[in-house]
Amino acid sequence: MVFYDYFKTKHNRLSYDNNNADLIAWTTGSADYAAWIGTHIVIGGGLNHNPYSSLDIVAHEWAHAMNDKTSKLGIAGEAGIINESLSDIWAACTERFANNAYPIPLSLLRNMWLIGEGVTKTRPSLRSMINPNAESHPDTYNGTYWYSGADEDIRIHTNSGVMNFWFYLLCHGGSGTNDKGNSYNVAPVYIIPAEKILYRAQTKYFTSSMGLLQARQLTIQAAKDLYGICSPEVKNVIDAWYAVGVGNSLIGGNTMYVNKTVAALNSDYQYAYYLVDASNIIENNAFATYESTNHIKMSNGFHAQNGSDFNARIVLCNSTNGGMKLSQANSSFQTETQERSNSQDIRAYPNPFEKTITLDINLISEDRVYVQCINTLGLIVYESNIIASSSVIDLAHLKSGQYIVRVVRNNIPQSIKLIKL
Ligand SMILES: [Zn+2]
Repeated sequence: MVFYDYFKTKHNRLSYDNNNADLIAWTTGSADYAAWIGTHIVIGGGLNHNPYSSLDIVAHEWAHAMNDKTSKLGIAGEAGIINESLSDIWAACTERFANNAYPIPLSLLRNMWLIGEGVTKTRPSLRSMINPNAESHPDTYNGTYWYSGADEDIRIHTNSGVMNFWFYLLCHGGSGTNDKGNSYNVAPVYIIPAEKILYRAQTKYFTSSMGLLQARQLTIQAAKDLYGICSPEVKNVIDAWYAVGVGNSLIGGNTMYVNKTVAALNSDYQYAYYLVDASNIIENNAFATYESTNHIKMSNGFHAQNGSDFNARIVLCNSTNGGMKLSQANSSFQTETQERSNSQDIRAYPNPFEKTITLDINLISEDRVYVQCINTLGLIVYESNIIASSSVIDLAHLKSGQYIVRVVRNNIPQSIKLIKL
């Protein structure tokens, strides 16, 4: 069973449910369709076309079963478009895997980028991922052949051409001008990174009600997870979406200053963030992320001297200097999430302490509060929720030395430096 072998070999996934579900297929009489119907797939015997039993069509239907166990995308709207496209993409990957993994007679070798090319009698294929326009499907969001009629079934099987072409471009690269008049130039990432990115996005991030813009964002996130924030793979994912008319390009918007409000920031790729204290880089973007306006948010693990002011340097991804170059944007900033030592309503005492500290917080009922104790290496050595206005915290297990007690209330951290004797 090629679909099973493909996902087991390439993604370590066991059947469509990742739990070795049986793959049951029924055939039916003379009919031009195939479908996943929730428990098994049904393969039509063909009426005006050949039987719908080609490898790509069968894999397409099993991919619908996998969608039921992962992202649960429906069969309407943009979610339905993504659902259909995922099925075509996994069909293409399965077909390519079969071409490479098994001795196949030349007559059965199929073009992975065509869906149903051995089945249709009246046209070259059901769908072309390499050139959706060849089957009167769009290759650009809202572009030529984009279907905006009322028939959901036609909509999702037509407009899937956009994401299909995205995946093709991601694998193979390409350049041209799309139906929006935007010229694009996408470098290939080739199939193995591409299928890994999409698999991670689908199984970890995709949701049932998402649209294509979210698919863009979540595949970018998956590429960042797998290959790094400044990786070529991230750039290529963005470039390929731009090519099919989804989302912004990376070109333009390069002038970003942290201490100014910036709208429409494209933070997908260009920037990593370094917090700079005087001339020393003390933290990198592992603990600091850019927010939508002029905020840098420090996350768990951030550590610094109490009361320090910081500069945020914005770093361009695709530049030299160890892969990084500091841009001219170098501004001091103050943020509401900046660490503060003189908080008015949080007290930790005694300081220095021996075994325990008492933490007093002016709690109101809906506050969500937790406390962390962080050592000088930035490691969290203690963590707990706080539910009372005064709590005794046992830190007897810690070695002598300096610690930051960080209290995070409603996602806003405040820090107090303590010394253990
Ligand atoms: Zn389908």
